[in-house]
Amino acid sequence: MSTSITSTTTADPLSPAEVAALRSDFPALAQQVNGHPLVYLDSGATSQKPRAVLEAERDYYENRNSAVHRGAHTLAALATEDFEEAREIVAAFVGASAEEIVWTSNATEGINLIAYAISNASLGRGGEAAERFRIGAGDEILMTELEHHANLIPWQELAARTGATLRYIPADDDGSLRLDELDDLIGERTRVVAFTHVSNVLGTVSPVELLVARAHAVGALVVLDACQSAPHLTLDVRALDVDFAVFSGHKMLAPTGIGVLYGRRDLLDALPPFLTGGSMITTVTMEKAEYLAAPLRFEAGTQRVSQTIALAAAVRYLDAIGMDRIAAHETLLGRRLTDGLAAIDGVRILGPVAGVERVGLASIDVPGIHSHDLGQFLDSRGIAVRVGHHCAQPLHRRLGVTSSTRASTYLYSTPADVDVFIAGVADGIAFFG
Ligand code: PLP
Repeated sequence: MSTSITSTTTADPLSPAEVAALRSDFPALAQQVNGHPLVYLDSGATSQKPRAVLEAERDYYENRNSAVHRGAHTLAALATEDFEEAREIVAAFVGASAEEIVWTSNATEGINLIAYAISNASLGRGGEAAERFRIGAGDEILMTELEHHANLIPWQELAARTGATLRYIPADDDGSLRLDELDDLIGERTRVVAFTHVSNVLGTVSPVELLVARAHAVGALVVLDACQSAPHLTLDVRALDVDFAVFSGHKMLAPTGIGVLYGRRDLLDALPPFLTGGSMITTVTMEKAEYLAAPLRFEAGTQRVSQTIALAAAVRYLDAIGMDRIAAHETLLGRRLTDGLAAIDGVRILGPVAGVERVGLASIDVPGIHSHDLGQFLDSRGIAVRVGHHCAQPLHRRLGVTSSTRASTYLYSTPADVDVFIAGVADGIAFFG
């Protein structure tokens, strides 16, 4: 059965020779697992790392290791230079300026940072400038039923702290967003609209333009969870006109421990801090402190320098290939994945497939076979996929399943990887059936 998947990129996909060449940059991909060559289809959880990234981190520790923004010595100056250059590189990658990029440990921390800063503003912290963030009883925070727990629980907690009401755009039976309900859900009381750019369960791309336009029409702030888009698509935060966006380095070739919060400059300037302490102040007395301007106001404590340098190396690596070409490559892999899965009896692909924009990610339910069993069967053949609820319990509940098996690609994935996975699923069904 053939399905149609919309692609917004017209770039040339990567050639088989290019993919073969870049795969040799990733030492982890060359190994055998359970006696089989590793087929890594769990990049949606975390990506593998190329040598250029591993070497950038090692080079920093061997030659320039130092705390940044303090100390007058040469190593501290070199480390600070690299740290701030990394901010510029990452800013350019998403169409922002360096002052709009705040380092966090991951996307989860980025969303918590915004939510806690908004509650601090709601307590009157941050003075007049922060008034625009104040929310309370009667105000509403809007999300979608597709959200990862990282873009759900921080808003539940913010609502509990401030008395605001949580609302969400429901998913239809097939996982598409019920946009027909927007008129009832977005109004004068909506203060924050937080949603995922690409669903980590369905692989579908959200209608960002529409949601941003509707949110801004009522003066609401838009928070974009770009965790599953920044690694795979060209992300331009200014073109999308979002107010905040978050993503995690470890999903885009960088190490764990580094995340990015983008905030529109005027908003970051007005937002009170979340974490407080060293490195985010100008003057401190025993009674009070004056804070630095953004982004340093949001970076309390000794910073993660090696991770920012490694993230910059990852961005250089991705830029050298071209995000539009990576997106084109993954669109083809995604189509192969859904076409192959749709042809297997007894497999249900979660989410809409035909006529929608999707990335190289698909989750399946096989009635009668638990995802953990299928995942273990696949692992016995060296195939790495994610099983469980993928931190999206409400969406799984809405789709009538408790768990699913997810395959997710990246620039180093090949059509053969997808084919081995599809054959593995078919054999797994025969084995358990
Ligand atoms: N949002 C989405 C859509 C994700 O896929 C993930 C990670 O899987 C997150 C948020 C959270 O990312 P992290 O755990 O790196 O903070």
